[in-house]
Amino acid sequence: MAPEECISALGGWEGYELCGWRQKRRDESRWCVLRPRRERSRPAHCSSSWREAPALHDTQWRTVRDLPMVEHTVELEVPRVQVACPHRGAKLELLGWLDP
Ligand SMILES: [Zn+2]
Repeated sequence: MAPEECISALGGWEGYELCGWRQKRRDESRWCVLRPRRERSRPAHCSSSWREAPALHDTQWRTVRDLPMVEHTVELEVPRVQVACPHRGAKLELLGWLDP
């Protein structure tokens, strides 16, 4: 198993896989910034109605704090896809592992 696959599996980011990472220092502590990307084949679901809906090209980047790994604080840079919900309009994609 490649390190990226291992980190993706440990992260529990269903439908996403690690595509990049970097380290940075902030206030004397070490941070690990992980960048998962959405698997293209993943069907999208609306975060409002939970129904399957076509994904839009508009992507918003969210930075979220994750559980620490070893001595590093972990931050995720997650691309959030919008979907075209036939019932509720443009909504964020439902991700079970990330609060809306
Ligand atoms: Zn919806």
